[in-house]
Parts: sequence; structure tokens; C-alpha cells
Amino acid sequence: MGAITIEKEAACQLIWMLAMEVTMKINEIFNQNRKVFSFEVFPPKKQGTIESITSVLGELSALEPDFISVTYGAGGNTADESTCKIASMIKNEYHIESMAHLTCVNSTKDDVSIVLGQLKAQNIENILALRGDINPDLPRREDFHYSCELVRYIKEQGDFHISGACYPEVHVDAKNMQEDIEHLKIKVDAGVSHLISQLFFDNDLFYHFNEKVRAAGIQVPIEAGIMPVSNKKQIERMVTMCGASIPQKLAKILQRYEYDSESLREAGIEYAIKQMEGLLEHGVDGLHLYTMNNPYIASQISKEVKGLL
Ligand code: FAD
Repeated sequence: MGAITIEKEAACQLIWMLAMEVTMKINEIFNQNRKVFSFEVFPPKKQGTIESITSVLGELSALEPDFISVTYGAGGNTADESTCKIASMIKNEYHIESMAHLTCVNSTKDDVSIVLGQLKAQNIENILALRGDINPDLPRREDFHYSCELVRYIKEQGDFHISGACYPEVHVDAKNMQEDIEHLKIKVDAGVSHLISQLFFDNDLFYHFNEKVRAAGIQVPIEAGIMPVSNKKQIERMVTMCGASIPQKLAKILQRYEYDSESLREAGIEYAIKQMEGLLEHGVDGLHLYTMNNPYIASQISKEVKGLL
């Protein structure tokens, strides 16, 4: 009888521990008073091939980041559930906290409600609420114009932790940094409790932005988004899209190793590690690594950075 009681107690404790593990919101991670280290992955390009990312998720999870976020395809296509499925795999199979990105500019409120229902069903509590890029080839919907409207809508729909994006080099649609930060304040006041920055390659730009954001009264933690360079064309495409600048030092690396992909990858890893070391010395709240689904790059960086957190 005694043994059965002990077994029951142990089982209850295990269930409680598992419940704790699966209900960690991102703000609770920041409340632990330490630097946060997180990853970002994207769903496989072709629909129906989610299995192809399984080994990547396994390898990234083994590096034990604080959470892994999963991007959301443009277009608000709710039939494509890959973001939710991958976020669920990360959380429920690999037991790493996950965050689902969600865009709204091509979605109706009903579309968003469907996605939120899917996320709730998978016990996913963290959402990166985004407007999404304006794509002239996709039909605009009128329910949401800016991410702050999505934030307010999500808050009405359930108890999610909501994060938002921010732009150290100013969002491409904004007139200037002051205006962009005023809009950021509206988003935070609407219910965002954590920000992740757009990629940047010059830490001084991030420090300057950080100062302006704090001066504007925005107090939520800001994770710096770092993308290791591994392919010249890819990075040039990215910076054209998001408006990030390439400092001279990085431009030289890109030029030197343009046709030597292995050396470029290693130099890109070294550059990212240096950036992260500098950010940590400057007291950054957290580091968000754009892994590009590449576990090798993520593991090389984790090895160097985790001991500094
Ligand atoms: P908003 O916060 O709505 O800002 C967009 C523009 O509108 C800015 O210029 C801002 O100054 C202005 N603005 C904001 N609020 C107001 C207001 N109240 N009144 C007037 N103007 C306002 N895209 C995807 O499609 N899928 C993803 O998974 C994805 N993940 C991302 C992750 C990160 C960390 C980042 C930084 C970006 C990501 N993006 C993603 C890209 C993002 O969707 C684009 O940058 C998009 O153009 C802006 O989204 P946002 O949520 O920042 O928009």
C-alpha cells in the first residue's frame, strides 16, 4: 500500500513537472534574470514535407536554447499549418519552449482565430505578432493594418505571451527612427512584452537604437537578432529586403570568400560570435540566432556563446 502511495506521489510530481515544463511563457524565461539565447527556424519551402525538418529540430533542440521560434509564411494561408505543426514538435516532442510567428496583413479576423485555436490546441503559448510584408501579388484584407491591431486581437482571444519585431536600422516603410519608435511604443502598450530585432551587422547601430527605445519609455526586454553570413547572394537579397547595412569589415569578408563557401561559412560564424560577445559585454537582454535551419552553424556559435550568457 505504502509503495503504491509513493508511486502515485512520484507520478503526480512527474505530471506536475511536465506541466510546468510545457507552460513556460517567454516572459517567465526573462524573469529568471539572465541572458536569453534563442533560435529561429523556418518551415520547409514545399508544403507537406515537414518530416524533412525533423533531424534539424532534433539537433537544434539538443543545443538547449531557451526557445525556438518558427516563421510564418506570407499570405495568411491558414490551410498551411506548418508553423503550428513545427512549433508543436519543438515543444511537445523535443521539450524546448516554442514560439509561433503570425502575420496578419493578408488575413481576416476569422483566419487569425483559426490559427489561434490551432496553437491553443497544441499548447503553444508564445506568439510573435507581425504585420507581414506588403506583397502586391497577394490580396490585402482590411481587418488588420498594423501589428498593434493583431496584438490587441490576440489579447482578446486568450492568454498568450505576445512578442513583437523591432528595427535597429528603421523599418523600410517608416519615415525615420523617431516615427518608427513611436509606433513601436503603441505596439508595446497594446500588449507586447518582448521584442526581437531585425538582423543587423553593426552593433553600434543596435546600441544607438536601444538607447532611443529606452528613452521613449519602452522597458520590455529586447533580443538582438543575429544572422551568420554563409552565402553572399542570400545575404545581399536579405539586406535589400530589410534595409540592413553591411559594414566594411563584413563587405571585405564577403568579397574575399565569394567563391569559397566553406571559408565564408567559417568567417561568417566568427563574425557572428564577435557580434554576440560585444552585445553581451554591452548588457543585451538576449540573443536570437537566425539559424537558417543549419545545425552546424548553430552548434559552433552555441559552443562559444553559451558560456558567456
Ligand atoms: P508593424 O509593427 O505593423 O510596422 C510596420 C510599419 O508600420 C513600420 O514602418 C511602422 O513604423 C508602421 N506602423 C506600425 N504601427 C503603426 C501605427 N499604429 N500607425 C502608423 N504606422 C504604424 N515576416 C513574415 O512574413 N513571416 C515571419 O515569420 C516573419 N518573422 C519576422 C521576425 C522578425 C524578428 C522580424 C524583425 C521580422 C519578421 N518578418 C516576418 C518580417 C515582418 O513581417 C516585416 O518586417 C513587416 O514589414 C513588418 O512587420 P511588423 O510586425 O514589424 O509591422
